[in-house]
Amino acid sequence: MQEKIRLTEREKIPFFSLPLWEKMNICGHGFSSRLGGTGVGKNFSFDLGFKGGEDPLKVVENRERFLAIWGKKTTDLFCGEQVHGTGVAIIGSEEISASKRVFPATDALITAEREAVLGAFSADCLLVFFLEPSIPVVGIAHAGWRGTCKGIVARVVHLMKEKFAADCQKIQVSMGPSIGPCCYEVGDEVIESCHLSPWKKEMVLNPGGTAGRYYFDLKASNGNILLKEGIKPKHIFTNDFCTKCDDNLFYSYRRAGGTATGSHMGIIFLRNCGVR
Ligand SMILES: [Zn+2]
Repeated sequence: MQEKIRLTEREKIPFFSLPLWEKMNICGHGFSSRLGGTGVGKNFSFDLGFKGGEDPLKVVENRERFLAIWGKKTTDLFCGEQVHGTGVAIIGSEEISASKRVFPATDALITAEREAVLGAFSADCLLVFFLEPSIPVVGIAHAGWRGTCKGIVARVVHLMKEKFAADCQKIQVSMGPSIGPCCYEVGDEVIESCHLSPWKKEMVLNPGGTAGRYYFDLKASNGNILLKEGIKPKHIFTNDFCTKCDDNLFYSYRRAGGTATGSHMGIIFLRNCGVR
């Protein structure tokens, strides 16, 4: 059976993690649910993003609480502006000593530094976590349909190889919960983008019950790109969680009808006790 992420709980905060990576103990990682926060009302229960209308002070407090699970702080957190592009920030010692923590035009981050916590936010989009345990080096990518069609996950793999001498045979990839193919009906813009994508053969668009309707499979499409890039099938950990279907656990931009909703956060960082 392929390894799956599972819901676990620490410090009274439920979150998703991959048991295999917990056991390996090279990196810390997690993906939040909507549960466990300071907010009032369901929508604001554990909002970790600044775009959902929650009081920014509460968001900061929620971020502190989430990061505290691993003994980390918001000042340790590096993230991208998330513009649905393919910009990747490499976090080295220079970036850590500088004060900048949010990188413009960036949807993915990579680091081999133990001081940096890489974070990304989503409310239906897919977050993809990367680990090459022998270096070790970690990464995180935010992939909605745009980033998927533009191959953001392939770009992360390239940079891990190019800048860190990561071995494709050893790179492991875990996906977070995202909107599933059950709910992700897409229109002409997405269909066209899939056809124009350099990875068009890897894109998974399932026809719906009604003629002309298509459902985009974010996880399968990104999984196919990763396979094409040489990641071993046994190192790609996917899951069946759908953020739109499961109202109890997840925020969903689609479910909210395009209005503001909360955001989940995914984080990954290298532990001090890792290899080397
Ligand atoms: Zn669904």
